[in-house]
Amino acid sequence: MLDSTCIFCKIIQGSVPSVVVKENEYVTVIKNIDPKAPIHYLIIPKKHLVDIASLTEADQQFGWQILKIARDISTEQNLSGFNLVSNNGAVAGQSVFHLHFHFISGKNLYSGGFTL
Ligand code: AMP
Ligand code: ZN
Repeated sequence: MLDSTCIFCKIIQGSVPSVVVKENEYVTVIKNIDPKAPIHYLIIPKKHLVDIASLTEADQQFGWQILKIARDISTEQNLSGFNLVSNNGAVAGQSVFHLHFHFISGKNLYSGGFTL
């Protein structure tokens, strides 16, 4: 389930320190070590999944648990909005190859003119 060479697996195992915001059996949410917004968390599945492209049916619970914990953080912190971003593949900006979602709030990512 975990890869001993992976930084996020080490965080899940507790051998690398992190600030845990919330967690359950399936996912952990930590503060980003280099935040780009007032709130910048990482939602990380507690299984070494590389990216979305490598998911299988057996991983379906992780998809729901990631969305559910994002919902619960938003509700519990009474946030007026947030972005959930996952970089998949080096060309898309992924630097840690353990699936994760950036949970970002308190900053308008589109103020520089970029739109979706
Ligand atoms: P990505 O570039 O989408 O793969 O995102 C990787 C993110 O992990 C970056 O935003 C880093 O700041 C963050 N990160 C790397 N190492 C740690 C760590 N030890 N604790 C918390 N966040 C980390
Ligand atoms: Zn990992």
